[in-house]
Amino acid sequence: MYELKITDQFAAAHQLREIKGGCENLHGHNWKIEVTVAGSTLGHDGLLIDFRQIKNETKNILDALDHRFLNDLKMFKAIEPSSENIARHIFESLSQKLNTDDIRISRVTAWESDSACATYWMD
Ligand SMILES: [Zn+2]
Repeated sequence: MYELKITDQFAAAHQLREIKGGCENLHGHNWKIEVTVAGSTLGHDGLLIDFRQIKNETKNILDALDHRFLNDLKMFKAIEPSSENIARHIFESLSQKLNTDDIRISRVTAWESDSACATYWMD
């Protein structure tokens, strides 16, 4: 198997309504996002997928989150905009764009600080 990884980031505010403690107050993070793409077959060009394609699709998804109050966005109306759910949202959106017979998004990690992150993947 081959794995490619790219990183990108966005800044946004959120409020976690169900959590007692600092996270129920409105606050922001500079989220760092890692996207991992996996596959076993390279193209004739020797590439699994062009890094630029992963970066462009990731950027499109993150642009919709950047400098927003995440609780106001439609994908987080019914679920909390936690790092876990942010990772899942990006994973599912990217999977729709990039998955083929040969490659798939294997995991997405959302770092909300230098020392804490959440990863979503599917077995
Ligand atoms: Zn937070």
